[in-house]
Amino acid sequence: MKKAEIVIIGGGVIGASVAYHLTERGAKDVLILERENQQGLGSTGKATGGVRAQFETDINIKMSLYSLDFFQNWDFDCGYEPRGYLFFATDEKQFDYLRRNVEKQKSLGVKAVEIVDTPAISEIVKGLNCADIVGGAFGAKDSFINPLAVMRGFTELATARGAKIETETQVTAIETRSGKIVGVKTDKGKIECEKVVLCSGAWAKSLAKTAGVDLPVEPQKRQIVWAKSETDLPANLPMVVDLGSGFHFRPAKDSRDEILFAYPDADEKPGFDTNFDEAFVAKVYERAKYRASFLAETSIVREKCRAGLYENTPDHHAIIGDCEIEGLYFCTGFSGHGVMHSPAAGRAAAEIVLDGAASFLDVSCLSLERFAVGELLHETAFI
Ligand SMILES: Cc1cc2nc3c(=O)[nH]c(=O)nc-3n(C[C@H](O)[C@H](O)[C@H](O)COP(=O)(O)OP(=O)(O)OC[C@H]3O[C@@H](n4cnc5c(N)ncnc54)[C@H](O)[C@@H]3O)c2cc1C
Repeated sequence: MKKAEIVIIGGGVIGASVAYHLTERGAKDVLILERENQQGLGSTGKATGGVRAQFETDINIKMSLYSLDFFQNWDFDCGYEPRGYLFFATDEKQFDYLRRNVEKQKSLGVKAVEIVDTPAISEIVKGLNCADIVGGAFGAKDSFINPLAVMRGFTELATARGAKIETETQVTAIETRSGKIVGVKTDKGKIECEKVVLCSGAWAKSLAKTAGVDLPVEPQKRQIVWAKSETDLPANLPMVVDLGSGFHFRPAKDSRDEILFAYPDADEKPGFDTNFDEAFVAKVYERAKYRASFLAETSIVREKCRAGLYENTPDHHAIIGDCEIEGLYFCTGFSGHGVMHSPAAGRAAAEIVLDGAASFLDVSCLSLERFAVGELLHETAFI
């Protein structure tokens, strides 16, 4: 029977990062199993590639700080580009929330984040309708990266250090005996192993169930409209987020006239459907038209519009850690932040697998146990 020391289920950005960090620490026998014929066909290939430290919870801010630093200093070109994130508030309650968060972000070491008034916002985003905006927060060091490049970088460096990846291999069950991992069943046969790291994103719940673990990760469709302007867009557009509605837009990478926009559609029910829904276009344009004529006066680039899955947990934070089954670890449930947090998450998971706990950053608040003991986290800046 085939054997590996550590099996990683799922070859998206998270599985690749876990493999990278395990092999960086010297793990030799690491095998990634990916059911598709190539990596990146899950959520990673659908992500827009935003990275921000503008969060509410300490853990999200710390994971972002670590990851931003990683992307900026990585030898591998992952398309890192510090274009900034602007959050704007349309009422005083939201503005207070941004003020509190900026204070916290600064106290945790976030640089170049500041509260901005409406005239400053209209300078940062020329042409934005600011009639209902009371203020905002701008993080100049928040950035864009290329999600597939990040995944490729982790994979190339992990495989160069000995990790293996098998595509077109679907794991059908995680096998346990007497409360311990003994292997995985795949559509190509069994693989014996003592450790499994579950990184199958939106599809993690049913696999965890095969080991008798209830993993609260639910898939939810998220869509992006891709549009093109006849004239150049305003220069140096950052990511712009309406905190109240979640409507956001950003320029396409390396483009002067293409733009992406989206918002969290409350009509979207949990499920695995990833067909782009034409009705979403009108819903997004309704918001876009109000916000700026440079958004309204665009035409949709149908072939680039897309739908993918968020892998939501009840508190919109990842699940990183072990569980009652010896040798079974989770690194999933990123609730829409998996690409940006992949460096910190992969390192944390690798340290937990190899040492029993993450020492570079305390991620114990992200354990699966938090749901059983009712210690949920709270993050409002969830888009
Ligand atoms: C529209 C959209 C925009 C987004 N924008 C951002 C953003 O700007 N910034 C950000 O940080 N995040 C963003 N995200 C979220 C981000 O894409 C995810 O958090 C991240 O990709 C999760 O990575 P992953 O490796 O866990 O999951 P995935 O990339 O989904 O990888 C999981 C892999 O597991 C494989 N798999 C599943 N089941 C099995 C099985 N049984 N056997 C073997 N393999 C299996 C799948 O084929 C898949 O390749 C966005 C998501 C969407 C949908």
